[in-house]
Amino acid sequence: MKTLKYSRQRESIKKCLMARHDHPTADVVYASIREEFPNVSLGTVYRNLNLLVELGEIQKLTCGDGKDRFDAVVAPHYHFLCRKCGAVMDLPLKPMPETERYAEEAAGVKVDSHMIYMYGTCTECLGKAEPDH
Ligand code: ZN
Ligand code: MN
Repeated sequence: MKTLKYSRQRESIKKCLMARHDHPTADVVYASIREEFPNVSLGTVYRNLNLLVELGEIQKLTCGDGKDRFDAVVAPHYHFLCRKCGAVMDLPLKPMPETERYAEEAAGVKVDSHMIYMYGTCTECLGKAEPDH
């Protein structure tokens, strides 16, 4: 019974992630899941998120802002973090697998994946930039 309930929660967590593209933190997923499962704990949501990561069904993003974020899109793609509002968005760039070959040649290692995070100011924050005083 317990296992069944947990997998229903896991299903719901995955659905929540698939429906949004803002790369939510565990806290945000928790707030959303609680609407359906009022008794769920943050720890359970964390465990299920990490299990989904291990299963390769979602990916975890560590953007350097001290928060783990989650993404239902597991195909390789790159991210942009706005330093002003903290938004994390997908970059419309093609994956660059050749970068891995360059690293392999330069360092003699075997690369199996890579991530790129870019940082700056998002279009929305650029639009509402405060005038200089
Ligand atoms: Zn912004
Ligand atoms: Mn993404």
